[in-house]
Amino acid sequence: MINVEQLRAIVGEDWVITRREHMASYLVDETASAIRPKPAENVVLVKPESAEEIAEILKIANREKTPVFVRGGGTGICGGAVPTIDGIVISTERLDKIEEVDRDNLMVVVESGVTFGAMLQAVEDAGLFFPPHPGAENAHVGGLVACNAGGVRAVKYGVIRNFVKGLEVVLLSMLLGSKTCLIPRITKVIFRLCPRFTSSGTLLISYEDRHQAINSVPKILQSGVTPLALEYVEREVIEISANRLGMTWPAVKGRVFLIIILTGDSEDEVYAQGEKVSAICERCQAVDILIAERKEEQASILKMRSEIYSSLKEKGLVADVLDITVPPASIGVMMDRVDEISGRFHTSIPTYGHAGDGNLHPHLMIDLAERGILREVKREIYREAIKLDGVITGEHGLGVIRLPDLDLCPDGKTWELMRGIKQVFDPNNILSPGVGVL
Ligand SMILES: Cc1cc2nc3c(=O)[nH]c(=O)nc-3n(C[C@H](O)[C@H](O)[C@H](O)COP(=O)(O)OP(=O)(O)OC[C@H]3O[C@@H](n4cnc5c(N)ncnc54)[C@H](O)[C@@H]3O)c2cc1C
Repeated sequence: MINVEQLRAIVGEDWVITRREHMASYLVDETASAIRPKPAENVVLVKPESAEEIAEILKIANREKTPVFVRGGGTGICGGAVPTIDGIVISTERLDKIEEVDRDNLMVVVESGVTFGAMLQAVEDAGLFFPPHPGAENAHVGGLVACNAGGVRAVKYGVIRNFVKGLEVVLLSMLLGSKTCLIPRITKVIFRLCPRFTSSGTLLISYEDRHQAINSVPKILQSGVTPLALEYVEREVIEISANRLGMTWPAVKGRVFLIIILTGDSEDEVYAQGEKVSAICERCQAVDILIAERKEEQASILKMRSEIYSSLKEKGLVADVLDITVPPASIGVMMDRVDEISGRFHTSIPTYGHAGDGNLHPHLMIDLAERGILREVKREIYREAIKLDGVITGEHGLGVIRLPDLDLCPDGKTWELMRGIKQVFDPNNILSPGVGVL
């Protein structure tokens, strides 16, 4: 039984929601509906405004062994924020202060419920740059850290973890035998920032064949040019995104594309990189190369790319977006195997992803769910990724929906160690039980 009165005493009457119809959007995340986990029946939603209030809630939950699910922006796509067991959902949305953009020390201090978009704007207004760019700007910074999100710029700068300078976490002291233990929930983040680059350009390279495009990727990386982003997309999906946004995909020729963002300290530097990359792509049978130099043109190409998943999901076309990652030099082979699987199962598997990192998002379309073979096809793709020394999730995480296929992964010992660590910090297993291997 959840003690609602105690929760009200901590956060105030208005911030405890018990009626189901008032919390519907807090019971789902961005996972496609065909595979989205079912939320539990008895859930109480709480909206604290401080780390102290979260600590009080966790103390009660731990004492009463009530499961707690912390929720950021709800943009996760593997069911991690969905309360699948009766319990408390803590939304961090009221921890939304951007405390400081410290220009002298190149840092930003934000509460965990600040949206990624709001933080980016504040950083840009201060003339600085936050390099990682996961595609959902409505994610919260606490969620980005909890998931160690990646995104299009990981090829040059790495993932969110590389930019975390400090965390404020709720430390719930509790007696464990004679030992005192701590349970962390993120309430504030200090990120490292970078100076802004002075010049950038986006190359849009068109190919007829996905293998020609993908085969260019290792050659670009070996050339000494490290793009800010190196993305692979296909016309079939990017045009759905463009239409939804009322935009036009600028490439007229070709079926598949590399989007390559180059940055540097001068236009000449970016131009020289562009020349080098273009020559490589031409040798790999690119059929056209467009250069976007204006900031707005570059932003609209990135926007169309970032909105692919939301567009397909909104149209009800996608049953599951996979997140396989293989060593970057193996993505060509991985693509061959995805093609072979799509042929064998008579389906189409549009794919896009962060090609520079070997992180691909093959889209399993709704026909597979309707034909009852979604899981079979998914497992075929997972097996192939693992054979290439890859993993079944590169950036989205395990959440809830990837768990049934963990038996395919050879790293059982890793899961065991992670479970052991979680047990030390959360012996009653009240924090997001059933999410991830934890
Ligand atoms: C259109 C779109 C594009 C995306 N692009 C990318 C991408 O390029 N790269 C990428 O990596 N991901 C991407 N994602 C996935 C998603 O945006 C990220 O996983 C993001 O980190 C989730 O943040 P959130 O605040 O929405 O977390 P939620 O979905 O609310 O929660 C996700 C998990 O984090 C935990 N959590 C949240 N806040 C906290 C906290 N304060 N303390 C402790 N745990 C917490 C939750 O309990 C849950 O387990 C994309 C999603 C969409 C919809």
